[in-house]
Amino acid sequence: MGNIAYHVKELADIIQAAYVELNDPNCRIDTLCYDSRKVTNPESSLFFALSDHRDGHQFIKEAFQLGIRNFVIHKQTLGTFRQYNKANFFAVDDTLRALQQLAAYHRKQFDYPVIAITGSNGKTIVKEWLNQLLAADFNIVRSPKSYNSQLGVPLSLWQMSHEHNLAIIEAGISKKNEMEKLAKMINPTIGIFTNLGHAHDDGFSSQETKAIEKLRLFHDVELLVYAPKYLRPFNHKTPGKVHFTWGVEETTDLRILRQQQRENHTLLEAKFKGIEVALSVPFTDQAAIENVICCWATLLALGYSTATIAKRIAKLHPIKMRLELKKGISNSSIIDDSYSNDISSLRIALDFLKQQNQHHRRILILSDIPAAINNKGLVYQQAADLIQQYKIDQLIAIGEDILKVRHFFRQDTVFFNEVKDLLSNIKSFDFSNSAVLIKGARTFGFERISRILTLQSHETVLEINLNALEHNLNYYKRLLDRNTKLMVMVKAFSYGSGSFEIANLLQFNKVDYLAVAYVDEGITLRNAGINLPIMVMSPEIGSLEQLVTHHLEPEIYSFDELEAYIKQLDILNQKHYPVHIKLDTGMHRLGFEEDDLLRLITLITNTDTIKIKSVFSHLVGSGNSQHDNFTKEQIDKFRLFNSQLLNALGYDFIKHIANTSAISRFPEAQFDMVRLGIGLYGIQTDDGLHQPLQAAAQLKTSITQIKTVKKGDTVSYNRSGKLTRDSKIATVKIGYADGYNRKLGNGIGRMCVNGQTVSTVGDICMDMCMLDVTAVTAHVGDEVIVMGEQITAEELAAKTGTIPYEILTSISQRVKRVYYYE
Ligand SMILES: *Cc1c(COP(=O)(O)O)cnc(C)c1O
Repeated sequence: MGNIAYHVKELADIIQAAYVELNDPNCRIDTLCYDSRKVTNPESSLFFALSDHRDGHQFIKEAFQLGIRNFVIHKQTLGTFRQYNKANFFAVDDTLRALQQLAAYHRKQFDYPVIAITGSNGKTIVKEWLNQLLAADFNIVRSPKSYNSQLGVPLSLWQMSHEHNLAIIEAGISKKNEMEKLAKMINPTIGIFTNLGHAHDDGFSSQETKAIEKLRLFHDVELLVYAPKYLRPFNHKTPGKVHFTWGVEETTDLRILRQQQRENHTLLEAKFKGIEVALSVPFTDQAAIENVICCWATLLALGYSTATIAKRIAKLHPIKMRLELKKGISNSSIIDDSYSNDISSLRIALDFLKQQNQHHRRILILSDIPAAINNKGLVYQQAADLIQQYKIDQLIAIGEDILKVRHFFRQDTVFFNEVKDLLSNIKSFDFSNSAVLIKGARTFGFERISRILTLQSHETVLEINLNALEHNLNYYKRLLDRNTKLMVMVKAFSYGSGSFEIANLLQFNKVDYLAVAYVDEGITLRNAGINLPIMVMSPEIGSLEQLVTHHLEPEIYSFDELEAYIKQLDILNQKHYPVHIKLDTGMHRLGFEEDDLLRLITLITNTDTIKIKSVFSHLVGSGNSQHDNFTKEQIDKFRLFNSQLLNALGYDFIKHIANTSAISRFPEAQFDMVRLGIGLYGIQTDDGLHQPLQAAAQLKTSITQIKTVKKGDTVSYNRSGKLTRDSKIATVKIGYADGYNRKLGNGIGRMCVNGQTVSTVGDICMDMCMLDVTAVTAHVGDEVIVMGEQITAEELAAKTGTIPYEILTSISQRVKRVYYYE
């Protein structure tokens, strides 16, 4: 997108490649790529083999097959790539640094202002709001989403082009010495320091070192906007030629005098250049207000009048950067991204659409792209190219602008002027069995389309945070040795969180294996386009044909089963069918035992119908230090059993025993593969250890009614909820049939309303329960968090005398699942 194309020879200089193989010296590069799953225009892409939890060099082959011909690789690996004689290789010491050098160089091609934003919180919101506030006067290029890391910043800068005249770039750090690198790349002219809080405390020795590190971003800025209260304690020189400060202190440039909260807005009164000014802010929560003040200060510093600022701030809207995946009508999948529309977020949404394997047909509903006036042609051309690259089958385009450039779009396209025109024609479209991306700028109100296509209402939902799943997955990947494979347990509807939705994410993230409990679970995944190997733990011999047709691999745990499989597979003319042998090393549930070894070997070596793909066992208490000796015995038994089997079979197989807790607590038990389960979903199960996991599931409902009930009266069945004071009682639509355990009634369970914790009152009913909201702010329709970050599955488990596994898998299927990416 950088509309400057770099010549490969020039590139070699820029990134100081020590050794370059120029097989095609005429190539030009305009696209950066570091992920072989996200290739769009291969001919002009430069692939960086970065090393994070997986070594990027592993994916060069795949990237080459996709048509990429230019690679930045680590010097030491050059020899490995000799066979690719039609590609250019740039060999460097550090591939990430090379990417950063290129971004820094690219940024230097432009002399328009670059605003850099850092701080503990609010970076993304302030960036997005400044974009809204300044869009009328500038062609702005900005960081996509919260791309603010060592990788995100170069990718953000790469978008800069001559079409723009202002850049807004976010910078985030989690430990010392990171900011210098970001500062060199961004080289900002204007700085905004949002605030200093406790995020990433563990990466810094003190708040002071953290503040100093963050300020390194602003060494050479012309103007710095900040609140002195965050920096004063450190008595450190604040960088920047000119300062513009805000806060309640008398010495600040924008001095906040008063704040008055109204029903749905806040009135701010302040003093600027000796004059009292007032502003109405369309938010009431404190974090939003602080972010607005930060934007207000920035606009004043840039010379805007209070009148203009007030007009624009009144129109600010909350930033929702979510992309939601929901089940739609006629067996469709709806991806709802109706909050913004620009090229970089369109690309991200299309990536997510491409990741959906469950449907072949892809439909995009797209609004006008509200980019600034004078680069419309370019923006729509880019959009049309993207839509072509991502192979959209049908485009439904809405808006007057996009209609004017209809000749750009080559696929089956229908144009409408307004959303209501589509809505009145909606029956003429066939959305069945399709993945539909709804991507519209906020002003178009595309949520009206998504409401119709998803038949959605205000119900109880289980929200699954796909970023959290990816975070947890990557955390466990980092704990693995280089050659250890990863199997992920997606049995029981992925621990209650979903089926192909989770499997798609795992396939996209290249795990090695999936495991399900039953054949039909495996078939569902196959029908949804999952082609990873799948182990089935409780296959029924009666469904063997199905198993074979869908390339599912059975677990075999007994002689009866083994003999039946050999016989039946023979009838089906199968040779070397992959099976998994389960050993019992102490669980005493299923599996072969030591005494079975000879007979097992005889049976296996006398047939060519099956092939042992893996041998595995299960640990009974790997999360609990009390059982560590027993766990070690299990591991030793497993090792011994394997070596005997290996000797007799004469061929190797995958060996695996570790579940989630064993991955973190018994690194020596990784063998060839591990089986990740509960940890993926962000649940802590390790005795005395706290893993840096993110809870992936949030269970939400809303308030249906609020009543005032007198002291002495009772609430719910059996008159168990006797009130000791006049009370406000809220009814919420979740009950034990949804998986909210009856034991959580009568004050045992807690939920969260508007950030405040409240308790249940009375017995839990089948579809509803009641909360005591006497002491808190609560209205009908308010969202209520039943389980999430504050009220964890671990807490619910402790209160109901069970384990988090049961809490997750008990959430009933009638609770809608919604998946989102941020
Ligand atoms: C469910 C299961 C796992 C995963 O266990 P976690 O504790 O959730 O990691 C591993 N192996 C087998 C055989 C399982 O059934």
